[in-house]
Amino acid sequence: MAKAKRPSVKKYNNYIAGEWVRSSSGEWFDNVNPADNTDIVGRFPESTVEDVDRAVAAAKDAATRWRRTPAPKRAEVLFNLGEILRANKDEFTLQMTREMGKVLKEAGGDVQEAIDCTYYTAGEGRRLHGFTTPAEMPNKFAMCVRQPVGICGLITPFNFPMAIPSWKLIPALVCGNTVVLKSGEDVPLSSLNLVKACEQAGIPKGVVNLVNGAHKPGAALVDHKDVRLISFTGSTATGRIIAEQCARDNKIVSLEMGGKNAIIVMDDADIDNAVDGSLWGAFGTSGQRCTASSRLVVHKKVYKKFCEKLVERAKKLRVGNGLDPKTEVGPVINHQQMEKILGYIEIGKLIDRATLACGGKRLTKGDYAKGFFIEPTVFTDVKPGMRIAQEEIFGPVTCVIPFGTLDEAIKIVNGVAYGLSSAIYTQDVNQAFYAMQELYTGICYVNSATIGAEVHLPFGGTKGTGNGHREAGTQVLDIFSEWKSLYVDYSGKLQKAQIDEVKV
Ligand code: NAD
Repeated sequence: MAKAKRPSVKKYNNYIAGEWVRSSSGEWFDNVNPADNTDIVGRFPESTVEDVDRAVAAAKDAATRWRRTPAPKRAEVLFNLGEILRANKDEFTLQMTREMGKVLKEAGGDVQEAIDCTYYTAGEGRRLHGFTTPAEMPNKFAMCVRQPVGICGLITPFNFPMAIPSWKLIPALVCGNTVVLKSGEDVPLSSLNLVKACEQAGIPKGVVNLVNGAHKPGAALVDHKDVRLISFTGSTATGRIIAEQCARDNKIVSLEMGGKNAIIVMDDADIDNAVDGSLWGAFGTSGQRCTASSRLVVHKKVYKKFCEKLVERAKKLRVGNGLDPKTEVGPVINHQQMEKILGYIEIGKLIDRATLACGGKRLTKGDYAKGFFIEPTVFTDVKPGMRIAQEEIFGPVTCVIPFGTLDEAIKIVNGVAYGLSSAIYTQDVNQAFYAMQELYTGICYVNSATIGAEVHLPFGGTKGTGNGHREAGTQVLDIFSEWKSLYVDYSGKLQKAQIDEVKV
């Protein structure tokens, strides 16, 4: 009997020195649709140390020309990139949902973030402001300019497949650096779409290079002596390993890592609005956001009412394939993550002994069996020290924690290893401002969920979430450029700062 012919799966390549090339390993990995494991989105090269070496060499070759291209000219090319992303938004959105699982509207938002970032950051090509300042000697001029850092290694996670690579790539380029991007292994197509758009926009060969694969090419990039900077977004565990390695070579390293974000709901809050925000914050992107509202810290006076409304709504959320416009919660990214999340649900039930108010199971009936679907899960009666209230679960699971006073709530929110995002629902301006002052997170929202950052404000977190850098806004320029101080003495003689006396 003739074998049934499998539909052929498209193969994609790495992008090195302006050429689309296979990996030296000759090996491939499958990009699998998390909503339907029988759907292989594409086959991508399993890259090696040798591939990374070639990509870094290409970035090195292209560095001088790109650095010397005037920044406004670099920005023009980036504006072209914005136009290309905009023209292809619908296609990129569909492909992102297929490879990552997030619902179409959210995938569209992800592509939109890349577009916003491109236009906003390209504008910096005509600013990249430095400053002048008086020199302490007469007839002497002092000023400070930004200069590119050199070759940047960009390592990205799975949950924002185009937005996160763009948040690194675009600022790196406008500052005059060349880059090697190592995409998230679960979502290589969106990075590839971004890089292809760079090629179409006219970014010169070698300025942007892409290698695919899992941690091996990532580690090779971190290890490479010619790479001056690593910009990493991913888990705190991986970020720590990378930071240690970068320290050995004195590399610049910016880290955007995990979160355990919380919404405070005060007794004067608009409860329906708070429930809307909590559902969106906890279950948007199936809870796979670094800013996900994974803790809901609720005043005792409204706790019962809030929990009832939340659970009722969580049970009604439509879980399914993100390509179906009616779906509200898509799958989680892969089998391993699904097992991890289900493991945390067991910990919540059996070790923490919190109350499982709804959800808690993998969905397996019918088409669900082909994907990684977990019911939206709410734990109530959660105590702040429980593992489910302390550790990042990164799935559709949230915990409701009761409290008595605002100070108690703030202590709960701050009492975790992370510090990315926080929020408070209240009608009281004094409470809102006090919370904004006391919550030790990089981002804080009033009367809104913990998610929804905009590209023109700095993004990043405190404690286990980051190492002090901020992406987005103009603050990202401080990652991708170094300050150079310039002194011009036009006195025509030797003047010694701090030593010569200047007469008044
Ligand atoms: P991950 O740490 O597993 O992987 C991130 C990237 O690092 C991937 O490309 C992976 O291949 C690479 N990598 C893994 N080991 C490496 C090593 N030893 N050397 C170099 N590279 C290596 O993270 P993930 O599961 O893809 O993403 C989820 C995590 O990302 C969550 O913890 C989430 O909170 C975090 N995240 C943070 C932010 C933020 O801005 N703070 C944004 C999005 C996601």
